[in-house]
This record gives sequence, C-alpha cells and structure tokens, in this order.
Amino acid sequence: MKKFLCIALSAVLCITALCACSLSDNKPAEVGFEAMDTFMSLKIYGQNRDSVLKNVQGSIVSLDKLLSTTDKNSDIYKLNNAGAVPVEVDKTTVDIVERSLDLCDDVSGALDITVYPVVCEWGFIDKDYKIPDQNRIEQLLQFVDYSKVSVSDGKISLLTNMQIDLGAVAKGYAADRGIEICRNEDITSALLNLGGTVAAIGAKPDGSDWKVGVADPENSADYFGYLSCKDKVIATSGGYERYFIGSDGKTYIHIIDPKTGSPVDNNINSVTIVSEVGIKSDALSTALFVMGVDGAEKYRRENSGFDYVILTKDNEVYVTSGIYDSFTLADNFKNIKVNIVD
Ligand code: ADP
Ligand code: MG
Repeated sequence: MKKFLCIALSAVLCITALCACSLSDNKPAEVGFEAMDTFMSLKIYGQNRDSVLKNVQGSIVSLDKLLSTTDKNSDIYKLNNAGAVPVEVDKTTVDIVERSLDLCDDVSGALDITVYPVVCEWGFIDKDYKIPDQNRIEQLLQFVDYSKVSVSDGKISLLTNMQIDLGAVAKGYAADRGIEICRNEDITSALLNLGGTVAAIGAKPDGSDWKVGVADPENSADYFGYLSCKDKVIATSGGYERYFIGSDGKTYIHIIDPKTGSPVDNNINSVTIVSEVGIKSDALSTALFVMGVDGAEKYRRENSGFDYVILTKDNEVYVTSGIYDSFTLADNFKNIKVNIVD
C-alpha cells in the first residue's frame, strides 16, 4: 500500500512538473531595445528562450557596431574614410557587402549601397535637411556606382570619394542572423520585430499563423492591413518613416532614386515585401519603392521567391497572388481598392 501511494504521488508530481513546464514554455522571453537607429522588440518561446534572446540581441548589437556609418570604430566608417585604400574588415561585413552588391545588381541599381553621399547631402543623416543644388547632386552622382565596390581576400575597397551605407539592408540581414540563431537552438516559435522588418519564426505557440501588421502611412502607430504567415520575413519601406517638407512646400522622403540623386517622388506610399530571406525582403522593399508600381510589377513578373503589398498615395493596394489570401485590410481601410498582381 505504501509502495502504491509512493508511485501515485510520484506520478502526480511528474504530471504537475510537466504541466508547469509546458505552461512556462508558453510564456515568451521578451526584450525591447534600440539598435540600428530604431526600436526593436524580440519575443521568443520554448526551451532556452532566455539565452537565445540574449544571443539574438547580442548579434544585432554587434552588427550595428560593425555597420554604423557614424561610429568611428565601425568597419563601414573606416571604409568610408579610407580613400581608395583596401580595408580589412570583419568576415560578417564582407558577407553583407557581397550579398548587398548581388541584390543591387538584381534590381539593376534601384538599390545602390553607394548612394550614401547623396543621402547625406539631403540632410537625412545629420537631420539638417536641405534641398541641394542640382550641380552638387550631379557632382556626387559621379561616385554613386555599386559596381565599382570591390571585395577580395577579406578586404573591401571603394573609389576615392565613394561611401557606402547598408541602412536599407542591415535590419533584414540582422533578421537572418536571428533566424539562424533560433534554428540552431531548435526554437520553433519567435517574433523578431526589428523596426519595420519582422521575422516570423515558425508559428505561434498554439500552432496558428503569426499576424503581422503593415503600418498605416498616415499613422505609423496603427496598421492598414495584416499578413498572416509562418517562417517569413516581412519588411516595409515607407516615405512616412523619414521625410522633410522643403521651403517649396514639397515633401522629400529618405528613399533616394540612385539614377537622379533625388528623393523618390512617385505614387507609392509604402512597399511591404514577404520572403523567406530577411536581406532580400529589406532590399526589395527599398528597390521596388524606387521602381514605382509599374516597375515593381514588371520586376515581379521576371523574378520569384517573394510577394508584395504596395499601398499607393491614392489609396489603392496592389497585392501579389501568393499572399492575397493571407492579407486582410484593417477595419478603417475596408473600402479601399485591392488589385491582384499575378
Ligand atoms: P528604413 O531603413 O527606414 O526602414 P529602408 O529599408 O527603405 O528604410 O532604407 C532606407 C535607407 O537606406 C535610407 O535611410 C538611406 O540611408 C538608404 N537609402 C535610401 N535610398 C536608397 C537606395 N536607393 N539604395 C540604397 N540605400 C538607400
Ligand atoms: Mg529596406
């Protein structure tokens, strides 16, 4: 009898321990912090979540240190101030630069990591906004050409007066690093929100899809639609994120057309890209913004492995067929026109 009681008690204790374990697995490890000039938040479920959270945050902070254009100790700062001398950089910097150059090529230069001097001239870095003189823009455009960046033997070299900026792709690359860390630790449920670039890892703990909000350009604290997804990185570029109104009353946004050296001035309000690769989502959100609605549609016809939602200034939405069923408009936007892009 005593033996039976002992076995019964151990069984109860075991079940209680199991329940406690699965209950606590349902509670995520969470953190919010600033990096890459934006606010980020991470939510990770499962075993080892606390240590994985620290690793992911640590990896983002290290990337920020390598890639900052303003931190004097960063690889990019050193490179931008080395003239035409090759600079030995961290292998992570080599990796992100090589992958960015491939992406610049894929989009025929609509994304160009050497557009930085032009971005600076318009005041988007020091926030001393101004409309530059056209001659000055033309002078600076001579040094905008990603194809002149060379990478070999762990060294990167630019031409004299050329400078690079990975701002358009860094958050996506950081998302990929975060996904890799989570996968290596068998995390099957996590949401990494890197300020406009969101990695939805696995599914929610209950097995359902993640629901990721797409910011409303008129009120970036709110959403104009939602995407439900699993194992995707969703990146949005919007003119509303950083802009100024010039003395001429016009709005100038922080996304620059590398061909003209001026802020993009087309019919697009925001571009959201959904793909399995963070750097791709991030790069394409900027590049398709530059291409405009028709250019984006043409690019989509000729390329695969991604989907998009484009919101125009006259409140029309273009959604590619691959995510049409997973996209829903927020209640306030139910009356806007949705076009399917095949
Ligand atoms: P955000 O970083 O605000 O989410 P993006 O991913 O679209 O937005 O990146 C825009 C940033 O990239 C700008 O702030 C600027 O530093 C840089 N940039 C602007 N236009 C281009 C471009 N055509 N190609 C590459 N980088 C760009
Ligand atoms: Mg981008």
